[in-house]
Amino acid sequence: MLAYILSRVVLAKKPSFTRGQGRCIFCGEPGLTKEHIFAEWLHPFLLFAEWLHPFLPKSDELNHYDRTVIIQINRDDVENKLRAGEAHSGRARVVCRKCNNEWMSVLQTEAKPFLLPLVRGERIPLFIRQQSILAAWISMFVMVAEHRDSDRRVIATSPAARRAFMDTRRAPKHWKIWIGHYERHKWVPVVAHSAAEIVSDTHDGMYAPPNRPVAPNTHATTFVVGKLFVHVFGSTMPRVLRKQDVPVSGVSRLWPFWESPIWWPPKVTLTDNDADAIAFAFTNRLKGLRDSRLIEH
Ligand SMILES: [Zn+2]
Repeated sequence: MLAYILSRVVLAKKPSFTRGQGRCIFCGEPGLTKEHIFAEWLHPFLLFAEWLHPFLPKSDELNHYDRTVIIQINRDDVENKLRAGEAHSGRARVVCRKCNNEWMSVLQTEAKPFLLPLVRGERIPLFIRQQSILAAWISMFVMVAEHRDSDRRVIATSPAARRAFMDTRRAPKHWKIWIGHYERHKWVPVVAHSAAEIVSDTHDGMYAPPNRPVAPNTHATTFVVGKLFVHVFGSTMPRVLRKQDVPVSGVSRLWPFWESPIWWPPKVTLTDNDADAIAFAFTNRLKGLRDSRLIEH
């Protein structure tokens, strides 16, 4: 039984899309515009060179690392790349001007009044309306962020799912979203994204894809803005989705709705270890299954 997963840890990344290429990932129309992955009003909360500073060589202060891990049946391929620029400089040309200026802009504006207190760690209640908008904003971010690279092996949302999201502004039914209050120390990722193709949901669905390009249907995406820690898990395989949970307490489930209001900040502050455990819970689960089967055989 074979396992295949592609996992990426991204601090920030230069856009690899070029002018005139492709169509809007939401509406499918041409006329793309180059936009920041993180809205500009969030940039003050992404200036991580200061805290990254003690852990990097002097010359790397304003750069970031991009790590790609391909886990296969008998080996892990790891690629580390040093790229120029900080996390907030990451931009991509994947949405059209109309989408960007209309519904995406509206969603940013709706989310901003309570997103800012969350990234600052300030006290605020999140009722169902705020939770719904926040879940939608997070969904929009994840759908854009997974397209920041031209690598199709990390894109886990389908065009139909993105179109449905654009039409409804509701987080996808096959996603779970959690949020946590996090004080960063040494854990470096700003965005961590793992994607996998799971072709059967029996025996945890750990069957290798046939010899064709991998088409992910399952992903785990984590991102941190200021003190807001966000973790998203999505899978079109119901059993895989149902079984995936976060391995530590102290996070609040935002989607599907769980409680109202969610009072912020929660009693528990996430540590670096918590952040790492949550971000890579899915990757570790797949690795564990793979390794146990390697031993069996
Ligand atoms: Zn569009």
